[in-house]
Amino acid sequence: MKKILIATKNKGKLNDIKEIFRELDVEIISLLDFDEVIEIEETGSSFEENAQIKARACFEKYEIPSIGDDSGLIVDQLNGAPGIYSARYASENATDEQNNQKLIDELKRFPEPHRAKFVCVASYYDGNKFINSYGEINGRIIPEIRGSNGFGYDPMFIPNGFYKTFGEFSIEDKNKISHRSVAFKKLYKKLVTAL
Ligand code: IMP
Repeated sequence: MKKILIATKNKGKLNDIKEIFRELDVEIISLLDFDEVIEIEETGSSFEENAQIKARACFEKYEIPSIGDDSGLIVDQLNGAPGIYSARYASENATDEQNNQKLIDELKRFPEPHRAKFVCVASYYDGNKFINSYGEINGRIIPEIRGSNGFGYDPMFIPNGFYKTFGEFSIEDKNKISHRSVAFKKLYKKLVTAL
């Protein structure tokens, strides 16, 4: 059976992706399956470049077709920040709490609503070609923390059409509509015809 390596060590992300790819006739593995794991630096200047950097680094190290993904939060009033720097918004090794607090501070000078979106690019690489796909979900940021599910900016993000934050969604419900699931479902469709 064909294998695809997902360039992540995050079990939550991996389970979601396995679920989306369930009917594709491939074995899904991840960086958790290797003793010697590479550290990949996100040196790109776009989500797409970073996703491709992850996919290419994994293919070159393990010689298995690989998928990398990169995601983040884009806030209109902050001209797109934190963007590709979402994980390290407050500082290089910032915690989610520090990043959330920095976002609250930065948004103080703007009126609500703080329109925002989560975006994700997933990129497949097999040594010859990249296949990319994009997902996004639009909503707004509230200047407070609500809910304890999820991670990152989830407790501050209310998707359009809802009245609760992603931090108040169940993981299953978030995964039905999230930027990451949109990107991976699109990639799945492209791979069904390409593989
Ligand atoms: P990466 O794609 O794993 O590099 O994640 C980038 C960063 O974007 C995360 O550390 C979070 O701060 C933020 N982010 C990406 N996706 C989500 C999400 O679904 N919820 C909350 N924050 C997210």
